[in-house]
Amino acid sequence: PERVEILSKEELDRTLTRLASQILENISDSNKLLLLGIPTRGIQLAEVLASELQSKTGHKIEQGTIDPTFYRDDLARVGTRMSPATEISSSLEGRQVVLVDDVIFTGRTVRAALESLQAWGRPQRVMLLVMVDRSGHRELPIQPDFCGRQVPTRRTESIELRLKEIDGEEGVFLE
Ligand code: 5GP
Ligand code: MG
Repeated sequence: PERVEILSKEELDRTLTRLASQILENISDSNKLLLLGIPTRGIQLAEVLASELQSKTGHKIEQGTIDPTFYRDDLARVGTRMSPATEISSSLEGRQVVLVDDVIFTGRTVRAALESLQAWGRPQRVMLLVMVDRSGHRELPIQPDFCGRQVPTRRTESIELRLKEIDGEEGVFLE
C-alpha cells in the first residue's frame, strides 16, 4: 500500500508547538486546563501536548483519559467491547477541558466522549483538539477548536499519526 507523507517530523513538531500556543491563547487560566485523551492515540498525543504546555507555562498540566466506548451509538457496527478506561483524577468543576484525539472523521467518537464526560461532572468549558480532520465525512455538527491539519480523504484511506516516543518515527501519513 502506498504511503504519503502529510506532515514531516519537522512539520509535526511545529504543529504541536502551534497547537500548544493556541490552547494557551484561548483559555483564561492554564491552571484550570485539563487534557483528556481519547484512546488510544489521543492519550499519547495528549501526553506530548502536555509536555509542550508544561515547558511553556512552567507548571504541571493535568491529564486524563476519556473512554467513549460504551456511549457509541453504533457499538454493534464498530464491534468493540473493550472495558471503559476513563481516568479523571480531579474534579471537573471549574475546569477548562480539552478533548484530544488523533483523527476526527464522522464525529461520532467525540459525541460519545461528550456524553461519557457528563457522567463525570460539569466542566466550565469543553474544547476539542485533533491532529487531523478528515474533512468531508462529518455526520454530526461537531468541529475541532484546534486542528493540526485538514486532510481530504477517501473512506477507504487511513491517516496514521506516528510519535517518536511510541513508534520511533514521527510524522503524519496517509495510507
Ligand atoms: P469518528 O468517530 O469521528 O468517525 O472517528 C474518529 C475515531 O476513529 C478516532 O478515535 C480516530 O482515532 C479513529 N479514526 C477515524 N479515522 C481514522 C484514521 O484515518 N486514522 C486513524 N488513526 N484513526 C482514525
Ligand atoms: Mg482512536
